[in-house]
Amino acid sequence: MKLENFQVCDRDIDQATLSEYLQSEAIAVDTETMGLIPQRDRLCLVQLCDVKGKVTAIRILKGQTEAPNLKKLMEAANIVKIFHYARFDIATLRYNLKIQTQPIFCTKIGSKLVRTYTQRHGLKEVVNELEQVELDKSAQSSDWGNATNLSDTQLSYAANDVRYLIGVRQKLIAMLEREERLELAQECFNCLPTIVSLDLLQFKDLFEH
Ligand code: MN
Repeated sequence: MKLENFQVCDRDIDQATLSEYLQSEAIAVDTETMGLIPQRDRLCLVQLCDVKGKVTAIRILKGQTEAPNLKKLMEAANIVKIFHYARFDIATLRYNLKIQTQPIFCTKIGSKLVRTYTQRHGLKEVVNELEQVELDKSAQSSDWGNATNLSDTQLSYAANDVRYLIGVRQKLIAMLEREERLELAQECFNCLPTIVSLDLLQFKDLFEH
């Protein structure tokens, strides 16, 4: 399998990669974990992609509690971090590595706010419609815990999860502008750190009656 413009590293990105990524106006981010509960399921992999399409997969080791260069990138105020379903990724990054991600663009929220003609807001459907690319999600539920021994299939899946997000964001911004919902989307993104604080404290339905 050919993985172009792709590197794997352990624990953190190196200084050169950080400098390169700090030149990008936006960075696409995804994570792979042992499951969906941050307090229970450890973070295994963090994938990044810049505007030039350079992809890095960072293997997070068991017991690791910080990644200083990744933190600098994720907290850089002038670089938008793009996720599909940011609510989960920023929770696991905060819980495991004490990273306060900002600013944020969530392509799932953007899709829900503007693609009101469909209920299909999974990454596969959104990438398929907006980028005309068929994503293979077969490695989605796999064992990410054996970080030093990930298969090519897993790594190419992990890389593809970030590779199309920058293009998707551009398309969604155009649609959100057209439908006059870009400002509302921005307000939703701004709320995400608070929602994640509530999630990590296990508050559910705080705004319900
Ligand atoms: Mn993923």
